[in-house]
Amino acid sequence: MTRRLGATAAAGLVTLFLLATAAAAPVKEADAPKIKVILIDGQNNHDWRATTPFLKKALEDSGRFTVEVSSYLLKGDKPGKVEPTVPFPPDLSKYDVVLSNYNNNKKGTEWPKEFQDALDSRLKEGKIALVIVHAANNAFTGWTDYDKMIGMGWRNNTYGDRLIVDESGKEKRVPKGEGPGAGHGPRHPFKITIRDGDHPITKGMPKEWLHTSDELYQGMRGPIEHVHLLATAFADKAQKGSGEHEPMIWTVTYGKGRVFHTPMGHDLTAMRDVGFVTTLRRGTEWAATGKVTIPIPDNFPTADKTSPIADK
Ligand code: ZN
Repeated sequence: MTRRLGATAAAGLVTLFLLATAAAAPVKEADAPKIKVILIDGQNNHDWRATTPFLKKALEDSGRFTVEVSSYLLKGDKPGKVEPTVPFPPDLSKYDVVLSNYNNNKKGTEWPKEFQDALDSRLKEGKIALVIVHAANNAFTGWTDYDKMIGMGWRNNTYGDRLIVDESGKEKRVPKGEGPGAGHGPRHPFKITIRDGDHPITKGMPKEWLHTSDELYQGMRGPIEHVHLLATAFADKAQKGSGEHEPMIWTVTYGKGRVFHTPMGHDLTAMRDVGFVTTLRRGTEWAATGKVTIPIPDNFPTADKTSPIADK
């Protein structure tokens, strides 16, 4: 009897020891709850049916996110090939991040007012984050709160100010009406210059890195409130560019909410790029949590070498 009790006590001690060890061990990122992303698409003058599955996989393959897709389709529109999809409009209380791959280029495809208001108030309260990729910044001209959320976007030059960085590295605001509105020259590979390497999204990135062939957006316009510029790209006149250093990665603080914005990512070729994918993952994680744990991979592009991702 005594022996049996002794054995039980010993087993109990071992269990206690194991529990204590488990409690002391730091939580691994893999064990941290995944960030829930709702990707919205369904209208765009870009090939969203091709890019949405890529964006979803690019985020999920990091192990840090789950991504569901909600497509805002009109009668007769064909859905994309991502399953399962969440009916539109999605219940935003179920997610940490809205990733927009949406551009209402067709008449009557603005999100319903109630959904716009739900996004606006949840973002303002810091209950959800927003990620803007490429043509999503062309969307919703005239929705003034959206302009504030994205900071600046594809608008004409009478719509708002423009932000450039001069040769000394100083930010310069170009007033409404002066200089060009939004545009881009022919697509080409271009160099990204990090302007704030201390921000969690860009920390550890090379000061300059070469992005795979893409459209270089220039002359973007907007209210530019609470915008934190992280990187620029030089729009070379030899490429029909503006001759200025144009904003290429930035964040916006909208009320208590965080927004991550990249105008890169015209199509699959532009997205199949270690630089684009790493920036998207880190930007999305930061928007959701205010921190970044996703590492910069060894095959990240350098100042003179792009790092394309093979088409599987
Ligand atoms: Zn484009």
